[in-house]
Amino acid sequence: MQTEYQDILSALLRDYLLKYQEDLFLSDSQVAKIIGVTDEAYYDLLRGSLPCNNLALAGFLIYCCNDPSEFLAELRSAFDACAESNSNRQIQKTDLLDKVISYRRPMKVRSVRYYKSIPELYSFPLCPRCERPMNREYQAFCEHCGQALDWKQFSKAIVTVV
Ligand SMILES: [Zn+2]
Repeated sequence: MQTEYQDILSALLRDYLLKYQEDLFLSDSQVAKIIGVTDEAYYDLLRGSLPCNNLALAGFLIYCCNDPSEFLAELRSAFDACAESNSNRQIQKTDLLDKVISYRRPMKVRSVRYYKSIPELYSFPLCPRCERPMNREYQAFCEHCGQALDWKQFSKAIVTVV
């Protein structure tokens, strides 16, 4: 995660420096001198081969940047977007884990469906998760969704007639 933030900072700084350089028709070497880094360090920064160093950042903010608050606002919104996408990823991961685990925790079977039109078929217990009728009573898992089942309360199940 820190690397992502570092990459964002380097990329934004590079963008601003190139624009500054272009606007004022300056050479790489001239800009390096202005922000107080060596030519090599400046090349590395432009190529993105090294993360931007503190000195380059300070030099840019002090000597090249007309409006540091604009730079910081842009940096902040990029950081926020990055944090948001990271936290979404985190949530999806835990949601998925919770879901996988919850299928393995037995759910009580609490309802039965009775089909009036086909009395010879009697009634079917309904899966507490997917609510589809299951073939047999006292089976360990729903054959449709795989939910683990708990039959302790089954004698008190609610009967729905359809
Ligand atoms: Zn089910």
